[in-house]
Parts: sequence; structure tokens; C-alpha cells
Amino acid sequence: MKFATKTIHAGVHPDESTGAIMTPIYQTSTYVQDGVGNHKGYEYSRTLNPTRHALEKNIAALENGKYGACFGSGLAAIDCVIKMLNPGDEVISTNDLYGGTFRIFKTIFEKYGIKFHFVGMTDPKAVEEKINDKTKLIWVETPTNPMMNIVDIEAMSKIAKSANAMLCVDNTFATPYLQNPLDLGADIVMHSVTKYLGGHSDVVMGALVTSDDQIAKEIYRIQNSSGAVTAPMDSFLVLRGIKTLHLRMQRHCENGEKIARFLLDHPKVDKVYWPGFEFHPNHDVAKQQMRGFGGMISFSLIGDSLEDAHNIVKKVKLFALAESLGGVESLIGHPATMTHASIPKEEREKTGVTDSLIRLSVGVEDVEDLINDLKQALD
Ligand SMILES: *Cc1c(COP(=O)(O)O)cnc(C)c1O
Repeated sequence: MKFATKTIHAGVHPDESTGAIMTPIYQTSTYVQDGVGNHKGYEYSRTLNPTRHALEKNIAALENGKYGACFGSGLAAIDCVIKMLNPGDEVISTNDLYGGTFRIFKTIFEKYGIKFHFVGMTDPKAVEEKINDKTKLIWVETPTNPMMNIVDIEAMSKIAKSANAMLCVDNTFATPYLQNPLDLGADIVMHSVTKYLGGHSDVVMGALVTSDDQIAKEIYRIQNSSGAVTAPMDSFLVLRGIKTLHLRMQRHCENGEKIARFLLDHPKVDKVYWPGFEFHPNHDVAKQQMRGFGGMISFSLIGDSLEDAHNIVKKVKLFALAESLGGVESLIGHPATMTHASIPKEEREKTGVTDSLIRLSVGVEDVEDLINDLKQALD
């Protein structure tokens, strides 16, 4: 099956008892057995639930993987990956990581004896320098948030393999429509399903996909033992959302490009960060590993004034001022005082998160309306 067909058909089939074409919401905790141990594949919904199971198979298929596992949030999925490690193990990750990922690494897992290194991952040499015999995991995010840096997944996979470490890629920003890390050598793909996969800002969920039998066994063991599973109703909503993933992503990409180009030409805008620009420092890698450049854009203002940035995010009418991303509706955010507020000014400016930086999650509305909205706010 090709991608668009998989979004609609992978993992799902008409209900055998009624013919219902949509996967039912199996709102049940347990399953009646004919005799001890004689069941139909489902015993208890923490371990496995038919609605969740359908979604897990669907997401696995989208990522060209064998096994999928869904969790109560993206962070619960990340939690599962790190729980595969042991005290003394080391992890190498990027220095402009999603804030919540940084927080779980530093404030939860460091105290269990796992050591984390954060480096500028756009330079593979910086990663190689931190490799040692304790390195067990390389954690990649690409494109990164909010600076839209691109990390070379194939290069990371080579480094991970030579070090006998796992490679996990957070594919939330790109989605399987634009990028398939397993095909580029990753061992695990992680998603905040909350964003583009769900796509309608109505669910919080996470997912992991792998093709490795041994890793899958560990993921399911931890999923069942720690219990951070997602609910049948949410699984249903995401199955429904994914059926239009390819259509939504196509429009996110088209709108994203038009808005990125509009911003580039605007006299009040200084820098525009979007991996589709030829002058983007990692454009060649982006072109190689992605099939499009997405609808996430950041830009800064001439003069770099925090007040100007606050005025713009207040003056837009269609763009909603909110955290999160990946829904059908357009969102606007101010990283320095929202998502990255806890990072000291000097530290965040080093990675490019300046006072006037504004981040857009471009939705699937009519792009003329979105551009007019930005125009009136900027002018
Ligand atoms: C939102 C997000 C997460 C965390 O996912 P939740 O569903 O909010 O727990 C992780 N990584 C990236 C890139 C994200 O955008």
C-alpha cells in the first residue's frame, strides 16, 4: 500500500459482528474468557485494547515499521524509551531539544543515574566526540523547535551503529508524510500524536514505532508494566484524524511555503527560519531526507524588540496565540516568553531564540486570509 491508502486502511477492518466500517470505540477494561486462558487475544485494556490496537498498527504502517505502541502523551512515549536504559548508561541529544523532553531527561532520569549530553547535532562530529562505551542511545529531533535546524538522520544512524547504541528520532514536526526515520536507519520513531497525527487539537497522545523484535518486546513490556496507555476514545479520534493526514500535510506545506516567502519579503521581518529556503544552512540534508518542508516557521523582527513581538501576537485575529502545533487551525507563539521562558536569556539567544522571535504553526485555512492577517498585524 502507498501512503494515502495506508492512512485510511492500514490496521483497520470492518467490524466482524456488525459490519460497522469505522473501528468501534471498545470502551471496556476487561474481556470475558470462555475458560481460563481461553480468550480472543484481549485480556485487560492496559495490556491491549482493540481500538488502541488498530491505531498502533496504523501508525506502525505509516512509519514503515513492524510494531507500534501508543501512550497517554508524547512524554509518556519518551519515558518508555528511556526506561529501556540502565543506571550508568549515557544518552547524546541535541542542544535545542523540545523543552518537555529536556525536562524529563534532566529532572526525572538523571537522578536514576542516566547521563545526558546535549550537543549541536547539525554537526555529526560534535556527536562523535561524546561517544564512549557507555553510550546506549542517540536521541534526535528534526526539524528542531523553534529554530528549524535539520539533523542528518543517516549520519546519526551510522554513528549509533558503530557505537552499538540505539537511535531514536522524534518525528513529530515532519510526520511520516514528510520523513520516515526507520528507512534512514533509526531503531525507534517517536511521535507526539497530539500534534499533526491527531491534527485537530483535541487529543494528547504519544506513539513509538520500531521494526526490531527485541526493542518491540521491551516497549510492550514497559508499556504494560508502567501503564501510561492511551484511551479507546482518543484512539478512535486519532484513527479518524489520520485518515486526512496526507491531505492536511499537503496543504500545511503549501501554505507554509507561501507564508515563509511573504515574511521574507516583508520590510519589518529580519530572519525567517524554514528548511525549504535554499539559504537554510541544512537545506541540502532537508532535501535529501524529507519529501517537503512543512508548515512550521519561525521569524524575527528588525530591531529585535520584545514589545513589537508581543504586539504582533496580540494583533493577529486568525492566528490563535497558543502553545502546541500541528492542528488544522493556525497558531502563533512567542518562544522567549512562552515555551522557552525558563531558559536564561543568554542561553536561549545562543541558540537563536531572541526577544523578537515568533513561531507559526501554519494551518490549512485559505492562505490569502492568513497572509492578510499577518500583514495587518505587522503593519
Ligand atoms: C509536543 C511535543 C512533545 C511532547 O508531546 P506531548 O504529547 O505534549 O506529551 C515532544 N516532542 C515534540 C517535538 C513536541 O512538539
